[in-house]
Amino acid sequence: MNIASLRAGAALALAVAAATGAAAQDAPAPVSPATRIAQQAAQKALPPEGTRDAADSQRGFLATRKDPVIAGTNGKPVWNLDAYAFVAGPAPDTVNPSLWRHMTHLKRHGLYEVTAGVWQVRGFDVSNMTVIRGESGWIVIDPLTSVETAAAAMELVNATLGKRPVSAVIYSHSHGDHFGGVRGVVDPGDLEAGRVAVIAPAGFMEEATSENVMAGGAMMRRAAYQFGTGIAPGATGQMGSGIGSGLSGGALSLIPPTDTVAKTGETRVVDGVPLEFQIVSGTEAPAEFNVFIRSARTFLAAEIATCSLHNILTPRGAKVRDARAWARYLDEAATRYAPQSEAVISSHCWPIFGKDQGTAWLTAQRDNYRWLHDQTVRRMNRGETMHEIAEALEKTPPPGNSQEWSTRGYYGTISHNAKAIYQFYLGWYDAVPANLHAHPPVERAKKLVDALGGGDRTLALAENALAEGDYRWASDLLQNLVFAEPGNAKAKALLAGSYEQQGYQSESAIWRNQFLSAAFELRNGRVDRSNAQSNDMIAAIPTQELLDSVATLFAPERDQPRGLVVAIEIPDRGETATLEVGAQAMIGRVGVLPDKPAVTIRGPRRALLALLFVRLPVEAVAKMPGVTIEGDKAALQRMIDALDPMPHGFDIVTP
Ligand SMILES: [Zn+2]
Repeated sequence: MNIASLRAGAALALAVAAATGAAAQDAPAPVSPATRIAQQAAQKALPPEGTRDAADSQRGFLATRKDPVIAGTNGKPVWNLDAYAFVAGPAPDTVNPSLWRHMTHLKRHGLYEVTAGVWQVRGFDVSNMTVIRGESGWIVIDPLTSVETAAAAMELVNATLGKRPVSAVIYSHSHGDHFGGVRGVVDPGDLEAGRVAVIAPAGFMEEATSENVMAGGAMMRRAAYQFGTGIAPGATGQMGSGIGSGLSGGALSLIPPTDTVAKTGETRVVDGVPLEFQIVSGTEAPAEFNVFIRSARTFLAAEIATCSLHNILTPRGAKVRDARAWARYLDEAATRYAPQSEAVISSHCWPIFGKDQGTAWLTAQRDNYRWLHDQTVRRMNRGETMHEIAEALEKTPPPGNSQEWSTRGYYGTISHNAKAIYQFYLGWYDAVPANLHAHPPVERAKKLVDALGGGDRTLALAENALAEGDYRWASDLLQNLVFAEPGNAKAKALLAGSYEQQGYQSESAIWRNQFLSAAFELRNGRVDRSNAQSNDMIAAIPTQELLDSVATLFAPERDQPRGLVVAIEIPDRGETATLEVGAQAMIGRVGVLPDKPAVTIRGPRRALLALLFVRLPVEAVAKMPGVTIEGDKAALQRMIDALDPMPHGFDIVTP
């Protein structure tokens, strides 16, 4: 999972917004007869329960935290271990039975012994923390998302197994839920003294900070839908994220690696423990490795294999991933490492114990990605479009996978992954010229509603679709009506209801979250939510990336000091840069100082951030310690005034 979007976006926004108001909220719709029938059908189609997942998810349990709430420095809860305690017994008809079954295993929390010398803290965040006993201290793999949850996990480890220092930290990949809590586990004195090794895959720092900077504003907003951060856990609410429960809301930190690994088969002896790495970069994350702990015959599959089908393209938005490479790495893991392993563990979900079971589990997931890839390409080359392929594959899931729960789509789905693979090769265009230059959404919606015979007629058609239980069609009609007539309260209420039925029926937790978040906002208004800034993250973003990010706030239609050339000197980082205001774009150039700047800004980079992102007045920034601004300050102020404010949410369900 990638949550860096939430944090990086928030970090740049330098803002903390309040969550939804506590005013009375419109309740979600009750389950419809059609949804009830759909849930019964879904229940009947499930594979046999088996004993593996129930046994493996509880095996080795040692202890958990007494106080279920983990609080942040401001006293507000960052995590609640009991948030899904309500998930017990038979599935309510507002939750897909497969997703309900999934959460009964995923909701467990505590410290678990995996193999000799290897433990995991699970359920303390969306991700798992793995702990290995080194010669002098603990080796921690993936210190969760938040400093607070990581500290609580470490406290549990030390209280249960005996207190030891953390001698090494390993980040399996560049997503925030695998490094953000690092300052919660390391001792600052040990870190300062160089007594903590920090190991990551090659390219880690660049990817950890850059993957989400450009599109951070959009990703943050879209991620709130994907993870359901605006809706509470419950039978008609959020049901986890498919590979964990919610996102912890604490402080994000980052300590740069002291060592990186570039090739599969490379080994390191970390605090006396030999570790071998398998590079899997370019699949689930742009920088990622798996870890083979030979002495414990344990293989950590990081996040390329978990208890669910993953995302080839995550709905919150990302660069599309390579499904073929994903399958190839799983093949390598299944043939090279699993046969030597008594346990296959991941940085999400629960372990799989037994050599044969672990191998079969990785093999089934390999086949799933391979099937998705090959069948999408096969159909694509026959002329089918992404929507047709998604529909066809969803309706004919592969027979080999019907028995393996972990290949099901609790996180990624066959449907949106097939579209992603099509996009990977062919992009968004389906080669139908009518779609090459169709009207944009609002204009098209108005024409469509008009063509259907007007708003009342469209409502009547939607009501028919709702009565028939065709929520896909009802949502389509109503979404167009809401876009054509944003003030149409009945249309909004019906659309919310239609989305809710789709959410209740979704096997994928993140589909459910998206439908229910949309319904919530239709009923109660927009929820804007962001997290506090992370100084570590901001400090780690390269200056070129920041200047390019400022350039995306440039508005050519406003009065600009065109031709302005700004010299930037950042003594604390030994960097120089040029910023040029052109006719239609702003060009930033790191490492180059202009000959004849109109303005020169000299000072620490945080002053530059305050000016360009927070948009503090030039005069105020000039008074900050260590800052000098010389030259045409009025032109600089005009440049700042003409920038867009940092994006802070936007409407999704309404135009
Ligand atoms: Zn993750």
